[in-house]
Amino acid sequence: MPVRRRTVIFARATPPPLPELSNLAAGGTLPGILRQLSGLGGCTHPIRLDGHRTEYDVDATTGEVGRILRHLDSSELPAGQLLVRCNNRRTTRCAACSEVYRRDTFQLITAGLRGGKGTPEHVATHPRVFATFTAPGFGPVHNRRTDGRPCRCGTHHDQEDEALGSALDPDTYDYEAAVLWNAHAGPLWRRFSTYLRREVAKRAGLSQRELRDHARVSFAKVAEYQKRGAVHFHAVIRLDGPGGGETPPPAWATAELLTDAIGAAASKVQVDGPTIDGRAHAFVFGRQLDVRTIRSADFNDGQELTERAVAAYIAKYATKGAETATGALDRPLKFVAELAQLDISEHARRLIRTAWALGARKDLEHLRLRAWAHMLGFRGHFSTKSRRYSTTLGALRDARAEWRRAQAAANEPAPETTYVLAHWVFAGTGLSDAEAWLAASLEPAPGTEGEPTRG
Ligand SMILES: [Zn+2]
Ligand SMILES: [Zn+2]
Repeated sequence: MPVRRRTVIFARATPPPLPELSNLAAGGTLPGILRQLSGLGGCTHPIRLDGHRTEYDVDATTGEVGRILRHLDSSELPAGQLLVRCNNRRTTRCAACSEVYRRDTFQLITAGLRGGKGTPEHVATHPRVFATFTAPGFGPVHNRRTDGRPCRCGTHHDQEDEALGSALDPDTYDYEAAVLWNAHAGPLWRRFSTYLRREVAKRAGLSQRELRDHARVSFAKVAEYQKRGAVHFHAVIRLDGPGGGETPPPAWATAELLTDAIGAAASKVQVDGPTIDGRAHAFVFGRQLDVRTIRSADFNDGQELTERAVAAYIAKYATKGAETATGALDRPLKFVAELAQLDISEHARRLIRTAWALGARKDLEHLRLRAWAHMLGFRGHFSTKSRRYSTTLGALRDARAEWRRAQAAANEPAPETTYVLAHWVFAGTGLSDAEAWLAASLEPAPGTEGEPTRG
């Protein structure tokens, strides 16, 4: 079956692909396909796999492989292939899967704040703050002022104004530094976390080495794009005892000490960058640093920052990429010429073009600026694995889960020893026209009822 990419957001409004549907109906595969599609939980860009999985009985005494217990062959499935969720974290790519990701992130952050899922409940009593780290300025941009005065251009921009965040004077805006800052944001954060431990130790009267026997600093962070296209970080930072979240922090560990140490570390940290055309770049955080103590829900009087608010905030931004700043681009560019066709702001176009141009330089090869041009130079927190590798691993994880579900449904007692032979090959992504139409006729996918977010 040919695999086509298709957007199903407006599938309800499109006419049904009648010939393909009537073929499926005539073949008697419609109910089966609907069953397969409902197993995707609303994923609109599933991974398609060709292959098979066979489970054999093994004789416990002789170790000999015996009869076939179960066999799954993708060609015998109603859709002709095994369909597994895409697991994409981005809202713009897959509403259903990003919703799962958002909920998982919410659970993960909440567990670190309140306990649960293996973390003890007393973490709620550990000092913890919610901190926002920004990028420095790269030139004046159109903005909304809090004092009610107009933007420097003389306009009162409304919240939806696309000009917000774009350069007042594109000819003097420092696009080069803006892109390179994003590209060094990860290393800057890593160095900051080292400095932070040093500053915490200093305030406790300990050496860095001694600190480990008394306390640990742990954090969860998320990157977000500001409208001007600069990455900034939101982080939950917590002080624990020497054994991490399992152990209570020492008496000197307070939210005030932590806040003070964060301020000192953030103002001192610097990462040296490349020298381009005689200009030596160095990267620091912007002066705007916001650190707030997180209170537990019980103390909330409507003013305090609560655990729930923090978890919801982080989870929301975990499902977004640079498209929140650029408006449209959520995947890598193959050719810079594609830029002309995209419905993005001129400011975003300049940032991407700058990343692309810098990406041609041999001395900046390690920053992989062309591959990450769509992220405005930022390589993201998923930089440790290549996209393709993770997609395939994720797909196989899902294939196993799919198999387990099928097994459970069969309601057979599991034999003690089995031998499994499986082979899966990536066959493509997406749904055919008829599958997409059928999928849209199932339950609405979580997250698709809301309006599209262009934060
Ligand atoms: Zn999906
Ligand atoms: Zn303006």
